[in-house]
Amino acid sequence: MCLFCKIVNKEIPSNIVLEDENFLAFHDINPKAPVHILAIPKIHVDSFNEVSPETMAGMTSFIQQLAKETKLDKNGYRVITNIGENGGQEVKHLHFHVLGGAKLKWDHF
Ligand code: 5GP
Ligand code: ZN
Repeated sequence: MCLFCKIVNKEIPSNIVLEDENFLAFHDINPKAPVHILAIPKIHVDSFNEVSPETMAGMTSFIQQLAKETKLDKNGYRVITNIGENGGQEVKHLHFHVLGGAKLKWDHF
């Protein structure tokens, strides 16, 4: 079972921010911004390449709710998903980085 599946199953502890039947949001263990939350589907999906439109639809609503509840929606935030080798994806379970709490820099390389 992958790392984030273990987090979903509470086999590995995490600092949960928001949870519903199908999705989970928890604080990143190595934050790259004042607020750095990971939002994931509870079902295992390798990456954005494999995600269904149905799961994405739920994911969208979940991230919108997360932004509202954390008040990130007020001043803005960033949503990123890394895909594969060139994208720098380390954990092979689809996750969206939700970053905020400061004016973020934008570096491509
Ligand atoms: P990726 O590089 O795959 O896009 O992002 C993986 C993210 O997962 C990284 O930001 C990393 O800090 C985070 N991460 C890795 N292992 C754990 C863990 O055990 N717990 C939590 N909360 N975050 C983790
Ligand atoms: Zn998984």
